[in-house]
Amino acid sequence: MPPRFSKELREKMVFSESLPYQPRTSPCEAICPAGLPIQKMNTLIEEGLVDEALEYIRCRNPIPGVTGRICPNPCQSGCNRGNFDSSVFIRAIERYAADHGNPAYKGLPVKRPHSGKKIAVIGSGPAGLTCSYFSALLGHEVTVFESGPAIGGIPRNAVPEFRLPKDIVDREVGLILNLGVCVRTNFRVGRDIGLDSILSGFDACLIAVGAWKERELEIPGAELAFPAVSWLNSVNLGEEKSRPGKRVVILGGGGVAFDAAFTAVRTGAREVYVVCLESPGEMCAPLEEVYQAEAEGIRIHNGLLPETIFKKDKGLEVQFSSVSSFCFDEAGCLVVTKKGKGGITIHADTVIYAIGLEPDLGLLAKDDFFELTPRGTLKVNPATMETSLPGVFAAGDVVSGPATVAEAVGSGRKAAIGLDNRLSDQGNPLNLQIYFNENRMLESTNAEVAQAPHTVALEEFMNLDYFEKTPRRETECQPLDDSLHSLSEIDSGFTPEDAAGEAGRCFHCGHCISCGFCVEDCPGHILSMTPNGPSVDYPDECWHCGCCRISCPRGAVLYEFPLNMML
Ligand SMILES: Cc1cc2nc3c(=O)[nH]c(=O)nc-3n(C[C@H](O)[C@H](O)[C@H](O)COP(=O)(O)OP(=O)(O)OC[C@H]3O[C@@H](n4cnc5c(N)ncnc54)[C@H](O)[C@@H]3O)c2cc1C
Ligand code: SF4
Ligand code: SF4
Ligand code: SF4
Repeated sequence: MPPRFSKELREKMVFSESLPYQPRTSPCEAICPAGLPIQKMNTLIEEGLVDEALEYIRCRNPIPGVTGRICPNPCQSGCNRGNFDSSVFIRAIERYAADHGNPAYKGLPVKRPHSGKKIAVIGSGPAGLTCSYFSALLGHEVTVFESGPAIGGIPRNAVPEFRLPKDIVDREVGLILNLGVCVRTNFRVGRDIGLDSILSGFDACLIAVGAWKERELEIPGAELAFPAVSWLNSVNLGEEKSRPGKRVVILGGGGVAFDAAFTAVRTGAREVYVVCLESPGEMCAPLEEVYQAEAEGIRIHNGLLPETIFKKDKGLEVQFSSVSSFCFDEAGCLVVTKKGKGGITIHADTVIYAIGLEPDLGLLAKDDFFELTPRGTLKVNPATMETSLPGVFAAGDVVSGPATVAEAVGSGRKAAIGLDNRLSDQGNPLNLQIYFNENRMLESTNAEVAQAPHTVALEEFMNLDYFEKTPRRETECQPLDDSLHSLSEIDSGFTPEDAAGEAGRCFHCGHCISCGFCVEDCPGHILSMTPNGPSVDYPDECWHCGCCRISCPRGAVLYEFPLNMML
């Protein structure tokens, strides 16, 4: 077989299990839970085509200003460049596109003609919003029911302002509402309207209520402590009761605990302690947050179990015992082995606990309505996101358990396709390819699913000498002293030069960017360059020498040998 070239994405693809012309891909794209076309974004940002980059991003993710700020960027951890010098700062490039691109530069996407179908979306977090965006574009009438006063779920209500300004969430919510999505806030399904009424009034429904129920602290004196998400919510609302005093103890070692700690520092606390069961290596907070905490003078105590909270003088005291190991049993209950000594007591004005979140399906879902997973989340068909109740779909944390915004975006998009397919029955959803056509309207075709693309590892690059080692560009951040006294955003993102420079560091792993090296180096001259990339003009004359593959600096050439040969 002559070589095949894995081309960079050109279609504005919303949904496809695999693309026949892309037999190879990069680790970053394979990992991104929101399915961002990262290489196309990098190419366009490098060329200064920011509006076009944003257009491609919004084919997959309607809230890139949010993910571009707070996604824990698994894409970057998998980036091949990380094994060469340092990974590409993908999240910051995404944010740059979201903040500097004009999403309406050629006109906004155009909705399909009205389908006559009505969809109810319960919950306005990233999963509900993403599903609403694509469902509206697919021509359905969408009504979102939101129990809170503001639209946007956890990113709007609980993620601190200094990491994600609320006007960024509002900007992206606004673009979704502009599609005619109707929202009813302060409207809790299960209390203000029954699920049965929704099922009878709409053609289909999405449950995207997240995982808001905070696990309770079950120790004497727990009533003296605040649950972290509710406390963060009250800070975001500017409520007076959120003032934490001078000494604050946070119980927990995950991202929510650290958000509470950073927020306590910025709302007046002078001494903040994060105390958790885990050892330093076991904490699930991102490492960058642990470093930030150390820089901000937050004290982290590991291997401690809170035993009791009691009032002392004008404040509180928390007693901890020392732990040698812990695990969770089959029922999810904590099993702790304590050390005989090593316990401590910490004095505090406020104690906040962040010991886990779970979905609260109590109001919604009688057990006999839905099949649940052993973790108490809604069980869905992973190909369509449909629950055990036909016509009811689910996405986001209510399915996965507490996860990330990018995962909620990915599942919300998949649910929109699943819902559309149930309402219009286009056959096996796995065979569907959905993309924006030249009229900026969504179009779907049924295609044979090609083999899942191969993810190209750095070891497969045969022309690494082509690249020079260059350090990663970092974003501009507020000086520490200033940021400690304010809730304003710490990170101000890339400048245009840095965004283009950083995007230019991308290897474009597994994607042909039409450099022409393979054509030049083919000794049999069987290849030629076309506007669509390299093309094989004389397939029967390929010697299978492998020169094209060796010269390609992108690992984009797929080679299948006719004989049992090794390259
Ligand atoms: C403090 C905190 C910080 C976080 N930081 C990050 C981060 O930095 N990066 C990251 O990627 N992820 C982070 N996460 C996780 C991320 O926010 C979630 O994974 C994501 O928001 C899940 O989206 P969702 O749409 O499933 O649910 P949610 O965002 O939880 O939205 C669910 C919505 O449903 C509404 N609702 C609930 N019940 C009902 C009902 N009965 N009727 C109507 N409406 C209802 C809720 O009010 C809410 O608005 C954080 C989470 C927390 C708690
Ligand atoms: S959404 Fe997250 S994983 Fe995807 S490209 Fe952005 S930062 Fe990376
Ligand atoms: S070098 Fe570019 S294409 Fe390759 S993994 Fe990193 S960001 Fe992705
Ligand atoms: S050498 Fe250049 S033109 Fe040839 S496949 Fe690789 S990227 Fe494409």
